[in-house]
Amino acid sequence: MPRNADLDRIRNIGIIAHIDAGKTTVSERILFYTGKTYKLGEVHEGAATMDWMEQERERGITITAAATTCEWRDHQINLIDTPGHVDFTAEVERSLRVLDGGVVVFDAVAGVEPQSETVWRQADRYGVPRIAFVNKMDRVGADFWRTVEMMKDRLGANPVPVQIPVGAEADFDGCIDLVEMCWWWFGGEKGDKPERREIPAHLREVAEKAREQLIEGIGNVDDQIAIAYLEGHEIGVHELKTAIRRATLHSLAQPVLCGSALKNKGVQLMLDAVVDYLPSPLDIPPVKGVDPKNGGEVVRHASDDEPLAAIAFKIVSDPYVGRLAYIRVYSGVLKAGETVLNSTKQERERIGRLLQMHANQREEITEMGAGGICAAVGLKQTFTGDTLCAPDAPIILESIQFPEPVIRVA
Ligand code: GDP
Repeated sequence: MPRNADLDRIRNIGIIAHIDAGKTTVSERILFYTGKTYKLGEVHEGAATMDWMEQERERGITITAAATTCEWRDHQINLIDTPGHVDFTAEVERSLRVLDGGVVVFDAVAGVEPQSETVWRQADRYGVPRIAFVNKMDRVGADFWRTVEMMKDRLGANPVPVQIPVGAEADFDGCIDLVEMCWWWFGGEKGDKPERREIPAHLREVAEKAREQLIEGIGNVDDQIAIAYLEGHEIGVHELKTAIRRATLHSLAQPVLCGSALKNKGVQLMLDAVVDYLPSPLDIPPVKGVDPKNGGEVVRHASDDEPLAAIAFKIVSDPYVGRLAYIRVYSGVLKAGETVLNSTKQERERIGRLLQMHANQREEITEMGAGGICAAVGLKQTFTGDTLCAPDAPIILESIQFPEPVIRVA
């Protein structure tokens, strides 16, 4: 899908987490569940989820790619790698610059940890809409609600649980979906699809109260829902979903989900939430930059019909093709074999081959349209953060503003 005709079906997202919260495990599960060739049922006997992941780990291709493209519910999800170590804060900022939305993974036992705070504030600075995934619900001491409270206290966030867990620790076996008001049961075989069931009788009251809280939480930041709630209207699934999406896109609320990536529980529902609540390239503001000739402001919208404006966000040395530049295209079309202007360096560069990275293969493509992410071979002068644009319509995209270093006095 080189040209992105259905821009609203693209999600450029990052998994953001404190080290050890489960970013790698969540990412692996995403690639597994979205992997076409590895759909359950097609996996031949004996080759379980784990085997596939072990093989992948050995080959080391998937999880190390700076951006991996996968598909879920007819949407293209570009998973952009964000480093989890605090030392790589500048690198985290660079990746935040190019993603449109984030899934913040918390450890249900540890809750909000110091590094989560750092990354959360960085994401705030870039206005990155987020959903939260409270992972490791199977661990002893896991506490969904404590993590939600910590998000309020430590992060000043407006977390809105859209699910509540059913059972905890070893008995964690599902989530109540507060939007659709059903129980997703995770008790099946490893990696099975969650099974939709009726909310168990003893949890009905709790679920209704939690749904009310969700509606109140959204109503606090959304007039339409507030009015419907005050007037006592029944709020339907579609209406509520749309309002949650609106609130999330404006960073006024963060939907919270839960699961256990290690035990293959909840990741598929989290992918649904990525599609339902996180922005497409059309939902983010147009990018701004300056015209290097006269310093005037230039704005580019997410459209193939606008001149090319793109940013190189990661340069890696690839064992097969050599220097590989990962590029986010904001507007226009990046084409293999064409000459572009690196406006940051004021150098012309020829794009060699273009590649799109999938979980289990790299696909050669001829072009990439607005809103997309791909990797280019053959760029010699381009470094991380450089703008690539049409030679006859130059723009330098706003550079990343790094925070002032904090000087601590003992
Ligand atoms: P990262 O540092 O954030 O990438 O975290 P990893 O994905 O490497 O996970 C850190 C550790 O937590 C590993 O030992 C994982 O097996 C474990 N882990 C990840 N997800 C879960 C989970 O849902 N439940 C439990 N019990 N352990 C998990």
